Amino acid sequence: PGTDPEELLAGLDPEQREVATALRGPVAVIAGAGTGKTRAITHRIAYGVATGVYRPTSVLAVTFTTRAAGELRGRLQQLGAHGVQARTFHSAALRQLQYFWPRAYGSDVPSVLDNRMSLVAESAGRLRVRVDTARLRDLVSEIGWAKVSNVRPEDYARLAEQHHRSVATIEPDMVARIFTGYEEAKRDRGRIDFEDILLCTAALISDHPDVAEQVRRTYRHLVVDEYQDVSPLQEALLTLWRGDSQEICVVGDPAQTIHSFAGAQPSFLTGFPRRFSDATVVKLVRDYRSTPQVVGCANAVMSVAGASSLKLVAQRPDGPQVSFVESSDEASEASGVAEWVEAQHAAGVEYRDLAVLYRINAQSPPLEQALAERGIPYLVRSGERFYERPEVRQTLVTLRTQLRAAESEGGSALDQFKALLGALGWTEKSPESAGAVRERWESLAALLSVAEDLAAARTAAGLPLTLAEVSAELDRRAEAQHVPVAQGVTVSTLHSAKGLEWEGVALLGVHEGTLPFVLATTPEEVTEERRLLYVGMTRAMSLLRVSWSRTRNGGGNVRKPSRFLDPVLPASYKGSAANGVGSSSAARKGRGRGAVLSVHCRSCGKGLNDAAERKLGRHTDCPSTFDEVTLDLLREWRRQEAASASLPAYC
Ligand code: ATP
Ligand code: MG
Repeated sequence: PGTDPEELLAGLDPEQREVATALRGPVAVIAGAGTGKTRAITHRIAYGVATGVYRPTSVLAVTFTTRAAGELRGRLQQLGAHGVQARTFHSAALRQLQYFWPRAYGSDVPSVLDNRMSLVAESAGRLRVRVDTARLRDLVSEIGWAKVSNVRPEDYARLAEQHHRSVATIEPDMVARIFTGYEEAKRDRGRIDFEDILLCTAALISDHPDVAEQVRRTYRHLVVDEYQDVSPLQEALLTLWRGDSQEICVVGDPAQTIHSFAGAQPSFLTGFPRRFSDATVVKLVRDYRSTPQVVGCANAVMSVAGASSLKLVAQRPDGPQVSFVESSDEASEASGVAEWVEAQHAAGVEYRDLAVLYRINAQSPPLEQALAERGIPYLVRSGERFYERPEVRQTLVTLRTQLRAAESEGGSALDQFKALLGALGWTEKSPESAGAVRERWESLAALLSVAEDLAAARTAAGLPLTLAEVSAELDRRAEAQHVPVAQGVTVSTLHSAKGLEWEGVALLGVHEGTLPFVLATTPEEVTEERRLLYVGMTRAMSLLRVSWSRTRNGGGNVRKPSRFLDPVLPASYKGSAANGVGSSSAARKGRGRGAVLSVHCRSCGKGLNDAAERKLGRHTDCPSTFDEVTLDLLREWRRQEAASASLPAYC
C-alpha cells in the first residue's frame, strides 16, 4: 500500500513484467548477467505487496552473501516493500533456530564454532594421522563439502569416489573417520558449526510438525536470488520451508555458478522447470547493465564450447573500449590500476562507483599499497561479516557499557562517539599502511559514517542526536547484518562481487596460474574459473579494464595472459613474448613502466637473452626450482577453500 502498482511495472520490459505479475505458483527465471533478474524479483515482491496479494512479513527472500542480501533489502526499501525479510540462508536459518530451539529442546541454541581447524586437528591426532596445515585445511573444506552435500560420515567414502573427491595422502575411509571424530568432538563441547546452522534448522522443522507448521504459516512466499549456487543442503531446507506449497520463485544464471567446488549445484536451477511442470519459466536476454563493449567482451569469453551461456544483447548505448594492460610485475600492475582509478576520478567518476576485483586475497596487498600511496579511499570487502569483526563487536559492546557515563558528561553525541572510536584505534586521518591496521580503521570509519548519517537526519528534523540512538541504530544494523556503505573504491575478490555492479571495474591479475587458478586442473574446474572471469567482466556498467603481469616481482616465473582472454585480446598481445606493447597509458607515454616485457629467468631472476632459454623459462645452467609463487598461491587457495567452507563466503 502506498506505492502505485502500475508504477512498479512501468520500469520493466515485457518478460520482466511477466515475472513481476506471476504472483502465484512456481516461477523460475533463467537468464544471464545484468538482464534484470534481481530487478524482476524485487519488483515482483513489491508488486505483490502493493496490490495487497502479499503481506510483507509473509515474504522471505534469500540469497547467499551478506552483501547480496543487503542489496536486496536496499532495493526492496526503495520500492516501498517495507517489512519483507531479505536474508542469507544462514541468517534466516539462524533466526529460526534461535526462536524455535529453546521451545523444542528446552535449552539455548549451542554457540557457533568460530574455527573448526582445531577440532579437525584433534580428531586427526586421535586417529594418529599426521597432517600439516595445508592438509588440515583440505580436510576442513572436505568436511564442509560433505555437509552441504548431505553426505554423512558413514557414506563419505562411497560418495566421495562417486563425486571424484579426495584429500591427498589420506584415504577416503580415514577422512570419514576424522569427519566422525570431528562431529563427536563438536557435540561433546556443545557447539555447532556453520553448516549445522542449516542442518539443525532442517532437523528441527522435519522432526517437529508444529514448528514446520508455524514456519510455513509465517513465510508463505519464498524467493531465491542467485539460485544457481544452491547446495543440496540449502535445497533441502527450501523444501522444508515450502512444505506442500508451490509458492516459490527462483532466479539465477547457470553461467555464473562459481561455488560448485563447495557443493553448489546449478542443476537445481536448470531442472526446476522439470520438477515443477506448471512453473512459469521466463528467459531474459536483454542486458541493461553494461555497454555493448563490455557485453561483447563477456559474450566472447563465454563463447567457447562447454561454457554455455545465454548470449546477452546489450541495451545501453556505446561506451569506451575495454582496455587490456600488460605489466612487467605485480607492483607496476597495481600502480597502473591505481593510476586508472585516479584518472577516472579526475574525469568525474565517484570512487564508490569503481571496483578492483581479483581472484585470490593474496593479490590485494600490492594493490592496497598502490591505492594508499595515492591517498585513494578504498574498502576491502573480505567475506567476513562486518558486524562480526572483532573491532566492530568491541565498539558495540563498549558503546553499550559506556552509554550512561558518556551521556552524563554532555557534549555532542558525535564527538563522544569519535572519542570512543579513537580509543579503539580510529584516527581523523586514515592510516597509510595496508593490511590489518587499515582494515580495522576502515571498520571504525564505517561505523562513524553510520553515526554521521544519523546525525544529519536528526539535524534535518531539528532534533539532537544522542549516543543511545547511535547505539540502538548500530545494534539494529548488526541484527540485520547490514553493512554500512563507505565511500571508496571497492576492493574485492571475484567471488564476493557476484550480483553487484559498478560504473567502472578493473580486473587484476588475469594471467595463467591465477585465473585460471593453478590448482584448477580438470576441465570442469577450468570452466568454473572461466565463469568467474565472466562474473567479473559483467560487473562493469561501462568502464572495464583487464590487466595482468608477466612476473611477480621482476623475476620468477614468466606468466602468460589468461587463456580465457584469447577471444578478446588485441592481436598485439597474442604470442608476443618479448616486446608486445599494450594500450597501457604508461606505455603510450613512453615511460615504459607497466609495460616492460623483458623475460626473466624463473630461477635467478636475471634477463634471458637466448631464444632457447626463453622457451625453457630459465638459464640452462640455473637450477629449476619449484616456483615459490605457485607455493604461495597454493597456500592461499587452501586458506580460501577452508574459509569458504567454514564461514565468510556464504554468510
Ligand atoms: P546479475 O546476474 O549480475 O545478478 P541481474 O540479472 O540480477 O544481474 P540486475 O542487477 O537486476 O540484473 O539489473 C542490472 C542492471 O540493469 C541494474 O542496474 C538494473 O537497475 C538495470 N535494469 C534491469 N532491468 C531494467 C529495465 N527494464 N530498464 C532499465 N534498467 C534495467
Ligand atoms: Mg542479480
